[in-house]
Parts: sequence; structure tokens; C-alpha cells
Amino acid sequence: MPNKADVVIIGGGVTGNAIAYNLAKEGLKPVVIEKSDIGGEASGSTGGGVRQSARNLKEMPMAMESIRLYGQLHEELGMDVEYVREGNLRLCTSEEELETMRTSVENQKSVGLNLEMIDRKQILKINPFVGEKVIGAGYCPTDGHVNPFLVTYAFFKKAKSLGALYHTHEEVTDIRLRRGKVVAVITDKQEVETDLVVNAAGITGRKVANMVGIDLPMRPVFTEALITEPYPPFFKQMIGHAKGLFYGRQTVHGPFLWGGFVGTETFIHQGGKPLFHFIGPAISRMVIDFFPILKDFHVIRTWSGLIAQMSDGIPVLGLVDEVPGFVFATGFSGHGFGLAPVIGRLISELIMDCEASIPINDFCYSRFYRGGDHECACKGNAACTTVTAICPNKREWLKSI
Ligand SMILES: Cc1cc2nc3c(=O)[nH]c(=O)nc-3n(C[C@H](O)[C@H](O)[C@H](O)COP(=O)(O)OP(=O)(O)OC[C@H]3O[C@@H](n4cnc5c(N)ncnc54)[C@H](O)[C@@H]3O)c2cc1C
Repeated sequence: MPNKADVVIIGGGVTGNAIAYNLAKEGLKPVVIEKSDIGGEASGSTGGGVRQSARNLKEMPMAMESIRLYGQLHEELGMDVEYVREGNLRLCTSEEELETMRTSVENQKSVGLNLEMIDRKQILKINPFVGEKVIGAGYCPTDGHVNPFLVTYAFFKKAKSLGALYHTHEEVTDIRLRRGKVVAVITDKQEVETDLVVNAAGITGRKVANMVGIDLPMRPVFTEALITEPYPPFFKQMIGHAKGLFYGRQTVHGPFLWGGFVGTETFIHQGGKPLFHFIGPAISRMVIDFFPILKDFHVIRTWSGLIAQMSDGIPVLGLVDEVPGFVFATGFSGHGFGLAPVIGRLISELIMDCEASIPINDFCYSRFYRGGDHECACKGNAACTTVTAICPNKREWLKSI
């Protein structure tokens, strides 16, 4: 382990690995510190849906670019990640749900997403297995799903082959500042000198932010998922519920994966994962209601996971005016897997060139205290005046050391 690093990335989930890959591709040697295993937290619990639809409109440019990147991930990372781009059906069962869905579809169309409202007859052509209660759906043909373990592992493997250094089972316990700037990351095993640290710590992102004296309006949200035995192919789309109560898909190997909340009160958890499973049976009942054909299918495993939920439902990304050298990439609020390829690229661009090719101003930390319209450290070269640990010309500086 070097005790000096260009960049330290806290967290070896899909986000940390995607950032590490993009930085390593640019010639840096990022050090990734992961307190458990690669993909051991949300990235290993996820449903693997990669969608643009049903997102906050602010996320749409990033989501659309991420889906484009998913299409080339196989070749880029040299590994089949079981990416299936066969659409996302968001199922409605009442006039009220249809009305809300229509508005949502129109809003998403207005920012350039290709999606439409379809009726029951059209749904049956795409998926003949939906139950009678389904009367319409929002349908986005370019959404899909992946194998999350393979995606995370593919980023990890490629980043490592390009020179990224990994330390698993090592926990970041503190971040040292000097005159307000990042100068070192302290772990339970050592101290690493660095002037740049990326907070990709998922649900622990708030705790990591607290290490540099700032706080995030983030809370953990408990959710569960289940998987069945493998069955012959039925359908390829990602399935969602109009109100987001459940989601699921058939994986390419045959098992069905379903997850969600299913109307159960959200369990707010402070700390480790709860050990009991109470949502699984509720998810199963709802899935059978929507897909009666699955009623005798055998569930073989359930698991729980925590979502890093921000107060406004969108991630916090980029530099922080108050703490030069501290970069956010966390708070994905339950839909970060779909964004991982683009987040990896944008955070890397920000670190290397001080400017992200898709504006991320809406996601800055400063939104929590400055309100809607604001300038922030992430806005291009404005960063140079405040974030001297990164700008100007971090790339040149790094080459010279
Ligand atoms: C059940 C479930 C289903 C989901 N379904 C979907 C879906 O279908 N589609 C979608 O897009 N998203 C989905 N999500 C959300 C998605 O999984 C996350 O947004 C995404 O995986 C976040 O990745 P991450 O790398 O930011 O966080 P994580 O995968 O949680 O990684 C953060 C890592 O940081 C490490 N870490 C934390 N603190 C420290 C420290 N102090 N020192 C060292 N390491 C540390 C953790 O151990 C962890 O491995 C789902 C989430 C859950 C829980």
C-alpha cells in the first residue's frame, strides 16, 4: 500500500469502481478503500434495473448517456455483463394511476426520452403474461437490466488492470484536513496522504461527509428483494409498478428477481442491516396478482438492502466549496445502478479537467443551502479559484510528481 495517492476513492461499490476505472484510464493510480467486499453493499443487493424512465427530470441527460454507455460496456470492459435492452413496462391498474402516468410520460418526453403510454392490448403484445387487473402502462423501449455483480466486477477488474489499487476489508475512519483542505485519509490500518478524496460510500456517505465537517440530508431506507428458481424464458422487459411499489425481471439464466416496498411502511434503519424479512411475502403476493402465471414458482432466497435516500431524491455529486479536495458521488436514492457508467465518467472528468461534459450543477452539495439557482464549485473553471487542490491543471500537476 502506498502511503501517498493521487486520489482515494472511499467505497468499492459500482460507483467507486466506475470512477476508479475512468481515472485509471486517464493514467491516474486511484486507491480504492472498501470496508467489506467489492460490491458488498447496495451494488450487491440491487435489482439491476437500468432505466431512464420514471426519473427526476434533472437526471435525464445523465440517465440517457448512461444507457448509451451500457450498450458498449461489454466491449469496453471486456466482459459480458448480461445487459438486456428490451424496455421497461410500468404497469397501471386504475384510472388514477393512468392519469399520473400520462403526465409523467409527457414530462419525460418533453426532455427527449423516447417513451409512450400503451393500452392493455399493446401490453399483451409485448408481455402476454400480465394479469387482468393491468389496464395500461408507460413503456420505454430503451430501458433494460443488467447483472449487477458482473457490472461491478467488470469495472473493478478493468480498473485494476489499468493500475487502480484496491484495499478491501479496510475502513476509512477519518479524513485529515489542513487549513480546510484534504491532506490525508485515515483508515483502521494506516494513513494515506492525498489531496483528493471521493466519497462513493453509498449509505455511509453521510458519515464520510461528517468526517470533513459537513452533513447531508440523507437517510437509509430499508428494502427487500427475492429470487426464484430458474424457469424457461417468459419475458425480457424490466417491470415496474405505477407507484413504484415493486419491480422485477427475469434474469438471463431463468430466475425471476423481484423487489420493492409493496405498501409496507418504510423501515428506517440506523446502522447495520436488519436481520428479518417481512417484505418478501408481500412482494410475492403482489407479483402473483400482476403475473398470475408465476403463482407456483419457488422463491429460493430473499435479502435486504439499504437505499441512500436524499431528501430531494437525487444524488449529490461533485466538488464542495467548503472543503477543497472533497468530491461527492453518493446519495443515489434507490436508482444509482443505472447511472454508474456516466457517473464514473463525469466524476473523472471533473477531477481531470475541472469540468464535467454533462452539467452536474443541480446535484451539487451547495443546493442544500443555496436553493435552486446557484453557481457552484463544479461549474467549469470557476473551480480553479476555490478548489486549488484540484485545479488548475491537476493532470499536469499529477504528471510532475
Ligand atoms: C434492494 C435494492 C434494489 C435496488 N434496485 C435498483 C435498480 O433496480 N436499479 C438501480 O439503478 N438502482 C437500484 N438500487 C440502488 C443501487 O443499488 C445503488 O444506487 C447503487 O448500487 C449505489 O452504488 P454505490 O457504489 O454508490 O453504493 P454501494 O454499492 O453501497 O457502495 C458503497 C461502498 O462503500 C463502502 N464504504 C462505506 N463506508 C466506508 C468506509 N468508511 N470505508 C471504506 N468503505 C466504505 C461500503 O462497504 C460499500 O461497499 C437498489 C438498491 C437496493 C438496496
